[in-house]
Amino acid sequence: MNSSWQPIIGLEVHVELKTKSKMFCSCPNRHFREPPNTHVCPICLGLPGALPVPNQEAIKQTILIATAFHCQINRQFWFDRKNYFYPDLPKGYQISQHFRPIGEKGYVPVLINNQKKKIFLDNVHLEEDTGKLIHQGEETLIDYNRSGVPLVEIVTQPCLHSPQEAKAYLKRLQQVLRWLEVSDCDMEKGSMRLEANISVQRQTETGLPTYKVEVKNLNSFRFVEKAIEYEINRQVEILKQGKIPKQETRGFDPERGVTFSQRSKEVAKDYRYFPEPDIPPFEFSPEEIKEIKSSLPQLPWEWEEKLTAWEIPPVWFETLLKSKKLIANFYQAVLLGKKEFTPKQIASLLVNQAQMRNKTPKEIIASLKKAQNQYSLDKEKMAELIKEVIKEQPKAVEDFQKGKTQVVGFLIGQVQKKAKGKADPKLAAQLIIQELKSLS
Ligand SMILES: [Zn+2]
Repeated sequence: MNSSWQPIIGLEVHVELKTKSKMFCSCPNRHFREPPNTHVCPICLGLPGALPVPNQEAIKQTILIATAFHCQINRQFWFDRKNYFYPDLPKGYQISQHFRPIGEKGYVPVLINNQKKKIFLDNVHLEEDTGKLIHQGEETLIDYNRSGVPLVEIVTQPCLHSPQEAKAYLKRLQQVLRWLEVSDCDMEKGSMRLEANISVQRQTETGLPTYKVEVKNLNSFRFVEKAIEYEINRQVEILKQGKIPKQETRGFDPERGVTFSQRSKEVAKDYRYFPEPDIPPFEFSPEEIKEIKSSLPQLPWEWEEKLTAWEIPPVWFETLLKSKKLIANFYQAVLLGKKEFTPKQIASLLVNQAQMRNKTPKEIIASLKKAQNQYSLDKEKMAELIKEVIKEQPKAVEDFQKGKTQVVGFLIGQVQKKAKGKADPKLAAQLIIQELKSLS
């Protein structure tokens, strides 16, 4: 791509919340590899006359997510109907949020090549998932177990400018949502689904392009990167000819690494949004919002500040922040071992030895102490032992002088025996060779 072009990317991410029950009924929130249509009822099947009852837990989790991402929380919000027809949506509309989402205008801090950057959000809103179409040869089957599963959509502003930024943002989103224990964010199971809106304009242009292309079916971070790269190149080629790329929805073919046209893109007015008449608006008191906010754990970017202050290399952050439990154990170990070990020494053990990540802080420090004590024999004492060993093993000295250097290993073993295993083998080898050479 020529540097005179500026890609403009916005991302829409859907995540399924892992609440016990669905969004508007009491059916269990389980659909992955379950016998089809076993967790359904008149509400999630959209039968006439069935009335939705909102899931409080899902609402609280959405407020928590929006808070974590620095959104303004609307104390008053409501649900809206998004009208469209598709067989996986038996009611003919999806209950979503359009006019007053739970969270607006936040940002997600990310690290890109160790540079801090804020990815700005337009909104965080709550809706219901649809059923699932299963294509079998000539037939298409429908499983409604997924219908009505709570779904949070996190929408960025069109503020990303490269596939790398998109990937860093998505990884951060996944990390934080798992951190909050609100979603598995498992792309294979479909509990995290990605869409990208991509357009390109000349660097010199201001404002936003007049068109955007939406790419769907992106079920891995790698595919997002590939699809964005492909789209940027495709659109630049069209723009170079003085044309404007078509506003449309495209799919991504991972095998060929290309996007392909699916249909023209809908705009908001096509959905005839209107407030959901069956669910009254919500109003949360400042105290209730405060209480939810207070349950927010320390977030990965706050830990990253701490790790940076402790001179932990940024390449280790991802490993140390794999889980809340691991970073908490690390922190406890730092406190416990602060007289003897630097945070970096402790971090190094956890990063380099995977089995240590399941240990308690006490065990982590004990392991560091053991390693420290293991080769505690000092150099002078070692030199004495080496002299003794060499005196006792004239045959080995003779062999060495004949060029049989492998006797060094044997001599290290003899030294180690006298040192009760406390000699550093590397240093011992060095000193033995030095000594042997001085004899010849
Ligand atoms: Zn149901």
